Amino acid sequence: MTAAVEFHNVSRHFGTVRAVDRVDLAIDEGSFFAMLGPSGSGKTTCLRLISGFEKPTTGSIRIFGEDMGDVPPNRRHVNTVFQDYALFPHMNVRDNVAYGLMVKGVERRTRHERAEELLSLVKLDGFGERKPAQLSGGQRQRVALARALVNEPRVLLLDEPLGALDLKLREAMQDELKALQRRLGITFVFVTHDQGEALSMADRVAVFNDGRIAQVGTPSDVYDRPATRFVADFVGSSNVLPPDLTRSFGGPRLWASLRPESIRFTGASDPKAKGRVTALRYLGSGTRVALETGGQEIAVLVPAGAPVPDIGEVSGLTWDPAALHLMEDA
Ligand code: ATP
Repeated sequence: MTAAVEFHNVSRHFGTVRAVDRVDLAIDEGSFFAMLGPSGSGKTTCLRLISGFEKPTTGSIRIFGEDMGDVPPNRRHVNTVFQDYALFPHMNVRDNVAYGLMVKGVERRTRHERAEELLSLVKLDGFGERKPAQLSGGQRQRVALARALVNEPRVLLLDEPLGALDLKLREAMQDELKALQRRLGITFVFVTHDQGEALSMADRVAVFNDGRIAQVGTPSDVYDRPATRFVADFVGSSNVLPPDLTRSFGGPRLWASLRPESIRFTGASDPKAKGRVTALRYLGSGTRVALETGGQEIAVLVPAGAPVPDIGEVSGLTWDPAALHLMEDA
């Protein structure tokens, strides 16, 4: 299968800042790909490199196998949906959506028909005459999506497109975006700093740290099998154990992660570890118990209905040995 987008040892420097640092990447055609990472880790710069608004300092980018070295943004079959939507306030919704066709010189009737089709696709039938100011945040987001799709891009770039929406709408739009991507079969590259969003929507996730990719994999790869300490910290709610503690927990002297839901309290006389309860947090679906063990805090998730120890109590802990996941120190 051809990759939709490939980065070959791509760097982008701004003065002394290495915004993107020696990145190799292949994004499968027709997939939903998330770029996840903290603020300033290089995600947006990567999107801009794909769209052509930014050029690599070194390295090369291919889109559907073609080297993009001299290809301007408007010839890349790529479009972008921005977080602030960038709609034209004076134009109605239909003209906003049809804008890309107008620029291409498509005649008025065809543009309008196509705009109406796209409005229907994003469930905004009948909204064509409204101005952006007369729409809710979620509706504006859909207009921005329709507008970005009107030129039939082969790759759609989405830069924190749900960032301005409240949590409930955000979750609804996550499901809609995923469904739309499946239906259209085009490649979506989605930037977010929200790990839940990346894990719930993407087929594959690249976790960025400081201009570099710390790990690329399926949501389960990065959540259940984080390659590095950074990934475990950023993506999961795992306990991240320093080498000495891993060793006292029966593993080799390496960094490891151990998920709170993998640990159980035990009354056995030879538990794997013992901890003193320092805090309890009721979550509805269970209780998160913080314990101090070997100078380190570790969390245990107790499912609803199971007994919860008291603060100050010393409890034995156990887990399946396979739950101790070893990592690189990075
Ligand atoms: P955010 O989630 O906050 O948008 P990001 O992961 O998208 O962050 P980038 O916007 O790609 O990060 O920025 C990566 C680094 O490059 C940052 O340190 C940023 O300040 C720097 N940077 C980005 N664009 C420029 C520019 N045009 N000039 C100078 N520095 C830049």
